[in-house]
Amino acid sequence: MVGENFFSLREEMVKNQIVARGIKDQRVIRAFLKVPRHIFVLEKDLPQAYNDHPLPIGEGQTISQPYMVALMTECLRLKGGERVLEIGTGSGYQTAILAELAGEVYSIERFPSLGEKAGMLLAKLGYKNISIKVGDGTLGWEEFSPYDRIIVTASSPEIPSPLITQLKEGGYLVIPLGESFSQVLTVVEKFGDKIKRQEICGCVFVPLIGRYGWQSDD
Ligand code: SAM
Repeated sequence: MVGENFFSLREEMVKNQIVARGIKDQRVIRAFLKVPRHIFVLEKDLPQAYNDHPLPIGEGQTISQPYMVALMTECLRLKGGERVLEIGTGSGYQTAILAELAGEVYSIERFPSLGEKAGMLLAKLGYKNISIKVGDGTLGWEEFSPYDRIIVTASSPEIPSPLITQLKEGGYLVIPLGESFSQVLTVVEKFGDKIKRQEICGCVFVPLIGRYGWQSDD
């Protein structure tokens, strides 16, 4: 039914949900026009793939609302060529957007089923600049650090300290910070041993469960 209309649905999503709400970075806009979001949702949700809300992806997790993915991406100020660490691969949709805009993307997912499925999809789509591992992303991925940019796609009470350590001097980290049911999307910039925080807007994300995040999701 939605068949051949995916590109026009994607154009409408970009126009009405992303550009209309103030996303201006043309590289971000082009990436959203290109990446097939419908491939990353469950088959039963295919007709809703381009709608203005998050969708379930299994394991009690979600693919975030398109606008929130776009806003977080724009906040990273990617120019091309950066090394990016993503915590919370989920469906792999945000990972694909990052891979369009940066040099290399390292992504960590807590659930093996999600990490493996996303890895297969992204390989099938032909991305060669993505590495995924299953584990606790609050510990970062030291082997490939430091990172020019870090994006955390689950909410945390505070910034996990290993992520600050693994962020490059002058780099940006984007993370939803706050309580279980309400957070503030925050951009963190690192200067030497200091950080500067900028609050962007309110948001609601699933919890970041791990050693330097929430201890459990109950
Ligand atoms: N960006 C994803 C997408 O486009 O589909 C959505 C991510 S979803 C909102 C958040 C993800 O973070 C979930 O898949 C969840 O399992 C994962 N997560 C939570 N805690 C984590 C941790 N400590 N390490 C890695 N992944 C974690």
